[in-house]
Amino acid sequence: MTYPTTLLPELIAAVADTINQNAEAVTALDQAIGDGDHVINLQRGLQALVAQKAELSQLDWAAAWQKIGMTLMSTVGGASGSLLGTLFVAMAKAAKGQTLDLKSFAAVFAQGVEAMKLRGKSDVGEKTMLDVLVPVAVYLQSEGCTGTEVLAQVQAVALAGVESTREMVATKGRASFLEARSLGHIDAGAKSCQLMICAISTVLSATPA
Ligand code: ADP
Ligand code: MG
Repeated sequence: MTYPTTLLPELIAAVADTINQNAEAVTALDQAIGDGDHVINLQRGLQALVAQKAELSQLDWAAAWQKIGMTLMSTVGGASGSLLGTLFVAMAKAAKGQTLDLKSFAAVFAQGVEAMKLRGKSDVGEKTMLDVLVPVAVYLQSEGCTGTEVLAQVQAVALAGVESTREMVATKGRASFLEARSLGHIDAGAKSCQLMICAISTVLSATPA
């Protein structure tokens, strides 16, 4: 990952676009087992990042992720705001002073996801965004994660993670109030994370590293 932070405006725009284009579908998921505000929460944060994109592209990755994390924490709200904010702030801390190739990025991302688990007192298998983020982190750190297939594989792993939430009973977040009635539904936070990861990897696929 020797990508420059000058890609951030394009990355942020792609992430905001995919959430806007899928707003209705993801909101429907959150209405089924949550309180229906997940997309609005995210859009508020993404709008704030769009406004900061020129400034962010002047920073190194660690400083950019720190700023992104703080912005998400203060604008998104809900459970997802503090969790996504924690992801980026922890990635910033882990990335400080590092040159980011695929291997070191994988370690940085994994540390971000670990921080989210601690923040949310949650783990994979609880029908949350972690069911997408943890498998992606595991794949990025695996031996098989090399070569030209990486970004396509990341997309496939994220999609499988979303699907895995369907057959889970929620044990964290608002959906946990429904207990067994959460079965059969996809988690909205898992879906939005997958959409964002796919948008990012599509931009990176079209960019020479
Ligand atoms: P809220 O649930 O506070 O209304 P959002 O609607 O923005 O917040 O986000 C809901 C999403 O947050 C869920 O779909 C789930 O993926 C994620 N989530 C909720 N609680 C946790 C947790 N403890 N750990 C990880 N993810 C969580
Ligand atoms: Mg909600």
